[in-house]
Parts: sequence; structure tokens; C-alpha cells
Amino acid sequence: MPVGWPGRVPRPTVNHYPTGNYWLDAPRPPPCPKLTGAHTADVVVVGGGFTGLWSALRLRELWPSAGIVVVEQGLVGHGGSGRNAGQVAGSLDHSHREAIAHFGEAEARRMATVGLENLAEFERFLVANAIECEYARNGLLRVALTSAQLDGLLEERAAAETCGVSGLELLDATAVRAELNSPRYLGGLHDPTWGLINPVKLVDGLKQLALTRGVRLFERSPVTQLRVEAGKVRASTAEGDVVADRAVLATDVYSYRLMPRLLRRYVPLYDYVMVTAPLRPEQRAALGWRRRQGVTDERTFFNYYRLTADDRVLWGSSEARYYPGTLVSETHDHSLPHYRQLEESFRWHFPQLGEVRFEYAWGGPIAATTRLTPFFGAEGEGRIVHALGYTGLGIASSHLAGKILAHMIAERPDRLMQLEMVRRRPLPYPPEPLRRWSIEAVTRSLRRVDDGRPPNLLLRLLDALGIGFSS
Ligand SMILES: Cc1cc2nc3c(=O)[nH]c(=O)nc-3n(C[C@H](O)[C@H](O)[C@H](O)COP(=O)(O)OP(=O)(O)OC[C@H]3O[C@@H](n4cnc5c(N)ncnc54)[C@H](O)[C@@H]3O)c2cc1C
Repeated sequence: MPVGWPGRVPRPTVNHYPTGNYWLDAPRPPPCPKLTGAHTADVVVVGGGFTGLWSALRLRELWPSAGIVVVEQGLVGHGGSGRNAGQVAGSLDHSHREAIAHFGEAEARRMATVGLENLAEFERFLVANAIECEYARNGLLRVALTSAQLDGLLEERAAAETCGVSGLELLDATAVRAELNSPRYLGGLHDPTWGLINPVKLVDGLKQLALTRGVRLFERSPVTQLRVEAGKVRASTAEGDVVADRAVLATDVYSYRLMPRLLRRYVPLYDYVMVTAPLRPEQRAALGWRRRQGVTDERTFFNYYRLTADDRVLWGSSEARYYPGTLVSETHDHSLPHYRQLEESFRWHFPQLGEVRFEYAWGGPIAATTRLTPFFGAEGEGRIVHALGYTGLGIASSHLAGKILAHMIAERPDRLMQLEMVRRRPLPYPPEPLRRWSIEAVTRSLRRVDDGRPPNLLLRLLDALGIGFSS
């Protein structure tokens, strides 16, 4: 056990909710040194989340002799990679329907194939490199809470078939409640192309692997400037810098701080999750949940949830919040209104459980694009490449992005670069204050749809433009 891990200790509360991240409340590998002094490398990667670490590892395969340095402002997994729900998607978009709406049928088919190949490759990588992160291909249970959502599930299965994805299993109310017992479920769709991980074990596993493969990693070293000068890239921190031929900007939602113009293409939003105490055997039995799938419902502002290895329920909401002005800040890591809402929705779904305590609550920022999928690019004379904007679904996609970024850096063309998602950027968001007004207007409109009303003119217009909303 690493020195300094205090074990599970009482944590501060927000109202009566104990704060703290369940995944991080466990032994972790020792931190790497801070960046001090002058360093040189072939490639500097800024950001030690999934995107940065996958990029470094893929680059090592393509370019074995490269000097690779990763610089992380906190400890690896400080961003979304250490705060997420661990649902690993076999698709690149949030759904096949959305992929068709945003990219057209032919491209959605190609994305579906690439998504499945990507998941299989991700799985093989974990096995080949003995990365123990509690991965299991349990599938995803998509549940309908209204009859309109039942129609949505039928459409989703049809869209999956259009995209060449088979094996999705429609479940009526009895069958879905036999999977997971909530009186709120009217039906469901079991999608076998999804898995679950412990995200912090994954990010720590990638870190350890990168170190054993000769990647130099610096933690607790915020990069304050990333610029191209005299044909090189310089990444500077308060105490040192790295001068490299090329750079990967792998800072997802934080990217605007180093490259402000990227903010045109995404909005930072905060998602919140809570984790219960371990369920007692009788509570576990009252739920069923034998296949231990990840679960989401079909609302725009959906709940997503899963079991942890020790039989707690992780309960999250895509009711993501935009904080104009401050955007990404530690002051948004907790939100009492969200915690209250999460607790209420949990009890509404599972009244048979009686009193269940929540023992962890935390939030994290995501980068949302107008098409729900990430975008790629190269800046600074083509020396700084980036991929960001996973819109709350980045575990599997960042594996793909790492591979694409590595090929971009090594200048080795790959068929993945032909994906529309890579070639084309999402439509931009308007500047402030229009941005916050439009987010508020769209949020209000989507709430009406979740309440069972038809899409209004604004949503129909955005739909026609291929602009989507979710997280
Ligand atoms: C609550 C929540 C639930 C989610 N659930 C899921 C889910 O179930 N499934 C799923 O697929 N996705 C989920 N996501 C999204 C997923 O976590 C992200 O898409 C993914 O982790 C993005 O990885 P990344 O490496 O690109 O970004 P990050 O993990 O944010 O990594 C970027 C890193 O860059 C570092 N950094 C930033 N600026 C600097 C700087 N100036 N200098 C040095 N370092 C810097 C940050 O500290 C951070 O570690 C969720 C996200 C949240 C917040």
C-alpha cells in the first residue's frame, strides 16, 4: 500500500452529503516528480488523463525511439478520467440514432464498425498488458420510463440494425424488471456492446505502463503556456519547461486555458454523481441486477448508474450545469441542488430499498460539442495536435483518439483519419452572452420533452441543423 494513504476516513459534507470521490478513495501509485528545470523531448503531451496516456502509449508503439514526456497539472486522472461512471461504450456517438442524425447513414455505419473494433482493441489491450481495472463486458440496459421512450428504444434498435449492429435485445416491462427491479420501468433494451471499468484503476494502470515503457511523466505541474517558437513547441510550468518537436494537447475541457479559441467549439459543463453505502444482501436481492449492467434511461437529462465491485450503486445524472464566467473551477466540484435531485431520483426509482445512505458525492467537468462527439485538429504550424469534446462519453473514444493523435504526431496516415468525426469540426457555439441564453433556452425546451411534451420550434430547428444535446 502506498505511503500516505489515509484509508477510508470521514470526509467533509455538503449539507448531509459526504463529499469525496469513491474511485480515488483507494491506494494509488506513488506520484511522479514535479517538472523542474529544462527538458527536451521529441513529443510533449500536456494532460495525464485517458487521452494523454493513450496517446503516449500508442506513440511509443509507432515510434519506439521517441522521447515522450507527459505533464499533468494534478495527479493523473485529476479530470474526467478519474471522476466518471466507468461505462465503456461500443459506439462512438451517444446512440446510433444520434450518429445517423449528425453524420448521415453511411458514416454512422462506418462509425458503428469502428466503435466495435475500438472496444475489442481496448479489451485486448487490457488483457495483453495485464491492466487490472475491474473491466467486464456487462452490457448496457437502456430503460424506458414513459411510452414515448419505449418508441425511442424501438427506433434505437432499428438504427443499430441500420448501422449493422445486431444483438440488441428488446425487453418488455416484466423482462426489464427481471433484470433490474424498478417499478418505474416500462421496457428496456439490453445492448451487449458496452462494458464497465473502475476508471481510476484504468488511468493508474496506463500511467504505470507508460512509465515502464520509458515515458517520462511529471505530475502536480500545471502548464501555464504552450507556444511554438523557432520551429519547436515549448510547454512551460512555473518551475520548468519542456521543449519538443511536437505536442499533444490532451486537456479536454481545460483546453481553453492554453488555447482560448478552442472554446468556440465546446461548452464546459458539470456532471454530478453519488455513490451509496454497500447494499445489504437483502437490498441486493430486492434489485436483481444479476448481469450487473450499466444502466441509462431515455430522457435527455438521463440518469446513469451501475454497481461497483463492492455492491454500491453509483448514481449519476446528465443534468449537467453550465457555469458562465468561471467555466471550470474547483468551486463547482460539488452542488447541493444536484445532490438533492440525485437522492430524490434514486429513491423514486427504487422505493423497495428503504433507507440507503450516500457515502460519496462529487462532480466533474465535461466538454460538450454540438454533435456530442469529439473533434480533432492541429495548431501552431501543425505542431500541436488535439482531440477533445467527448460530451460525457469519452472512455472508449479517448482510446480511439489516442491512436489517431499518435498517428498524427508520427505523420503516419491511418484510415481512422478519414472518419468525418476527425476531418470535420462540430458547429461552433455562439459567443457570450448569446451562449448562456441559448443554453438556457435549449435546456428549458428539452425539459419539456422529458416531461412528455413534443419538441418545440427551437428543438426542431436545431434538429434540422444536426445539432444535438446530451451529456
Ligand atoms: C461525472 C462524470 C461522469 C462520466 N461518465 C462517463 C462514463 O460513464 N463513460 C464515459 O465514456 N465517459 C464518462 N465521462 C466522460 C469521460 O470521463 C471523459 O470524456 C474522459 O475522461 C476525457 O478524458 P481526457 O483525458 O480527454 O480528459 P481529462 O480526463 O479531463 O484529462 C485532461 C487532463 O489534463 C490535465 N490538465 C488540464 N490542464 C492542464 C495544464 N494546463 N497543465 C497540465 N495538465 C493539465 C487535467 O488535470 C486532466 O488530468 C464522465 C465524466 C464525468 C465528469
